[in-house]
Amino acid sequence: MKITKSDLKKTGDLLRFIDRSPTPFHAVDELEGMLAKAGFERIREEDSWNLKKGGRFFLTRNDSSLIAFVIGTQPVEENGFCIIGAHTDSPNLRLKPNAVYQKAGYTQLGVEAYGGALLGTWTDRDLGIAGRLILKSKNNRTESRLLKIDQPILRIPQLAIHLNRNVNEKGLLLNAQKHLPPVFAVTGSEKNPEQRFREFIAREANVKSAAIMGMDLMLHDTQPSVFGGADETFVFAPRLDNLASCHAATQALIESPRKTATTRVLAFYDNEEVGSETAQGGASPFLRDTLERLTQNAEDSRSAYMRAIARSLFISADMAHAVHPNYSDMHDLQHWPMINSGPVIKTNASQRYATDGETGARFAMLCQKAGVPVQQFAMRSDLRCGSTIGPITAANLGIKTVDIGNPMLSMHSIREMAGAKDHPALIRVFREFFS
Ligand code: ZN
Repeated sequence: MKITKSDLKKTGDLLRFIDRSPTPFHAVDELEGMLAKAGFERIREEDSWNLKKGGRFFLTRNDSSLIAFVIGTQPVEENGFCIIGAHTDSPNLRLKPNAVYQKAGYTQLGVEAYGGALLGTWTDRDLGIAGRLILKSKNNRTESRLLKIDQPILRIPQLAIHLNRNVNEKGLLLNAQKHLPPVFAVTGSEKNPEQRFREFIAREANVKSAAIMGMDLMLHDTQPSVFGGADETFVFAPRLDNLASCHAATQALIESPRKTATTRVLAFYDNEEVGSETAQGGASPFLRDTLERLTQNAEDSRSAYMRAIARSLFISADMAHAVHPNYSDMHDLQHWPMINSGPVIKTNASQRYATDGETGARFAMLCQKAGVPVQQFAMRSDLRCGSTIGPITAANLGIKTVDIGNPMLSMHSIREMAGAKDHPALIRVFREFFS
């Protein structure tokens, strides 16, 4: 796969985007920034929309899911929608409401695992806190404020091997309640550790501690993302699943022609890692509601919407499992996705992936046009297959869908890895879809 130096710059952009996006709230904020800079206009669900041909817009739900679209020059009922979907959330540890407590002379924070995190990788890392604060503002209203603390203020220390002699043979067994709370401070006899924590957060956010009425806070690794391996073959970074797909799709839409006949859409959802069943998740009506409003000016808008859906394609972009050299027998022999060898089409007979022969072919043809090789993945038949927003969206909208994604290792680890060349290659394929 031929990738130029300037293509690789986009992988560098991805790493910066990831480091600035420790939470879905930050990811959406960053994506809004990219879109606004490219001339997209913000609209809100609660307002009426004045949509024009060629118009470029974006909107959010809960500040953690985002839809962007460019209205095509031809009616959607004639051309359909070209949609790329992905998710903004990643597995992590989240603070409980009454998080602060003291034990054995330490101040600790109660946490819950969000999604299927590889919990062992969260130990012995230098952890920061990020998320959003809900503040009381004038007239009894609330406002939301992003918070991102990149100093290593928390740590989940592993037990020394001398006190856990069999850990290498038996594996690290973690009880989510007992073994995950990070340490924040040595408190001794301090009376009010809760207040100390709140004041710390308030100071970092530059607000009064009494104004904080709610918090959605989570932990992240403070180590910056990097290129790695010989000749910078790899990227080592958190949250590649699935911020890499969000970044690739957004970059492709921004780089593609300003006006096309077809209406192009990005749909990035929160809460994929916990099943998508939320007001802003993949199972919500967010995308359907938005697409329906894009047909509101047609003469028979209901029929226009259905005709448009019947002509549309949804590309569900989520990361794929590259073959691991130390565990290659965990893959089906005929399906060994390799890093830096192009995007992967994911297929599953039980429809945990939405791909079928036709939608897979349509994606393969886009890759061919873009001059990018394409790979195939199917799970070992004796292992349970993961899923994506693909089947959920396909069922929710009745839309033709293909599940694809770039290959990676260490999925759901606090620090994942992928290929430096695959990112610009996927942008190229998405650009083809949007042209
Ligand atoms: Zn994912």
